[in-house]
Amino acid sequence: MNVDDTSVLLIYTGGTIGMIENAETGALENFNLEQLQKYIPELQNFGFRIDTYQFDPPMDSSDMDPDAWQKLVRIISDHYEAYSGFVILHGTDTMSYTASALSFMLENLGKPVILTGSQLPIGVLRTDGKENLLTSIEIATARHLSGRPMVPEVCIFFENHLMRGNRTTKMNAENFNAFRSFNYPVLASAGIHIKYNNGQIHAYQGKSKLKPHYLLDTHIAILKLFPGIQEEVVASVLATEGLKAVVLETYGSGNAPRKEWFLRRLKEACDKGIVIVNVTQCRAGMVEMSRYETGYRLMKVGVVSGYDSTTESAVTKLMFLLGHNYSPDEVRQWMTQPLAGEITV
Ligand code: ASP
Repeated sequence: MNVDDTSVLLIYTGGTIGMIENAETGALENFNLEQLQKYIPELQNFGFRIDTYQFDPPMDSSDMDPDAWQKLVRIISDHYEAYSGFVILHGTDTMSYTASALSFMLENLGKPVILTGSQLPIGVLRTDGKENLLTSIEIATARHLSGRPMVPEVCIFFENHLMRGNRTTKMNAENFNAFRSFNYPVLASAGIHIKYNNGQIHAYQGKSKLKPHYLLDTHIAILKLFPGIQEEVVASVLATEGLKAVVLETYGSGNAPRKEWFLRRLKEACDKGIVIVNVTQCRAGMVEMSRYETGYRLMKVGVVSGYDSTTESAVTKLMFLLGHNYSPDEVRQWMTQPLAGEITV
């Protein structure tokens, strides 16, 4: 592929980046992609083709769901050969979930898929959206001298940092620096130059064909522990009709109460075939269930380690694996192996 072939598909799903203030109510409302281009005339200066695809109507990312992820996978897969890279404009609230889901659903990805958004709408003078969008487009088209794409994976670019999507968490509802990747180094930093951390970026899978996946199973719950959690609460989550998996948010390096009822409830659920994955409530660091007795007991009743997974990644990976109809033991097995660089084992 030579430079003349460069092209980007800009997919606008919604979010603050594409909002303007309603003059009467002061509330933020969506506007369309054409208006977005009006606010960023620099888009025309790239000198290569930027085509656009708009979700109609645009979605606040609080409304994102597997249907929307399937739609994104379909758009990327249908247009895969026609573009050098893809930029997805997305609300920040659930961007880490979408990035994680796409990282599993786009198997053998050999091109950049960069999600970005903003904390301030594009029409606001101090907006961070312009910078985020323009740099994302640059990254989505960046190549090595050999022509290989620089970042053939699903990423989030936000406030000067390019991060592996399935390692991110939204951390801040106020600052421009809204996302962090605590357990994996940033893939690139944008200053005067964009400096790529090549050793941390996925190896190029150019020869393998993109394999899009569409089936997700959402029979999942997140159970966050807190001191004083009641047996009825744990019991009612685990008794949810059709439940297939639970992301258990534990303390520290994967610790939980040693109370008899708690371990018994978890064991009964595991024995019934519910997959329980242990993810820490800490932002950084990993689950090590053999480190303390409190974690070791969880392992003994059948809970599997989520290692250094984010909750966002564990939830979407479970949806992806359950969508394949794997047996509980197969799902447990896959949860302990990285599929898209989402955990360090
Ligand atoms: N509520 C918005 C959304 O996630 C916030 C944002 O875009 O930052 O869609």
